[in-house]
Amino acid sequence: MPGTETSAEPAAHPITPSRKVPKPKTAVERKARLERILAELDHLFPQATCALHHRNAWELLVATILSAQCTDERVNKVTPELFKKYRTIKDLANASQDELANDIRSTGFFNNKSRSLIGAARKILEAYDGRVPQTMEELLTVPGAARKTANVVLGTAYGIASGIVVDTHVQRVSQRLDLTKHSDPAKIEQDLMKTLPQDRWILFSHQVIHFGRQICIARKPRCGSCPLDPLCYAKDKSLA
Ligand code: SF4
Repeated sequence: MPGTETSAEPAAHPITPSRKVPKPKTAVERKARLERILAELDHLFPQATCALHHRNAWELLVATILSAQCTDERVNKVTPELFKKYRTIKDLANASQDELANDIRSTGFFNNKSRSLIGAARKILEAYDGRVPQTMEELLTVPGAARKTANVVLGTAYGIASGIVVDTHVQRVSQRLDLTKHSDPAKIEQDLMKTLPQDRWILFSHQVIHFGRQICIARKPRCGSCPLDPLCYAKDKSLA
């Protein structure tokens, strides 16, 4: 998968207990801490990008819809055959829903996803002249494309920083790093958009998704290999 490699396996080190990590108290301290976090993410994942294989915005939209409640690896196994069978947006718009559901069965939630894919193809053909729209407002009219999906497509396919992708990894890591106090993805995204410079929004999402998959994992985060350990006062740091 492109962009998933770390520059090097981070060295193991003793873990700093949360209570011994100073919390930033002023705006200047918060800014300095954020800059250190971003620098470490740059060092870990300098080339981070979307792990979903795609050749254009339409394929990325399809892959992102399929990735709901499914791993990117599984989606990447399904999409090559899918795009061979349905070569154009029109092909998918005219697909039999039962047949399409069967084609994408292994990604889970295949009835909903097949309905969304056919609906998305029809909407893009009818309303957008067969081109995946390039604005958040328009993308949100496409079946299956909520804000997270729209951010993936706009950021990765078009390089448009419309917002920040908040998936389960970005949600968890942002909370652990105290970049947000919220648990609702929409509110987390607002907090991150206020905190991060806009030219970091796209890269930050990709970096944190990889960081959350490889190091700051949900259960027993690998704090002993995490370069952010000296900055992290998360309550659920793993001391093992
Ligand atoms: S792995 Fe996560 S919880 Fe552990 S130190 Fe790093 S950022 Fe904090």
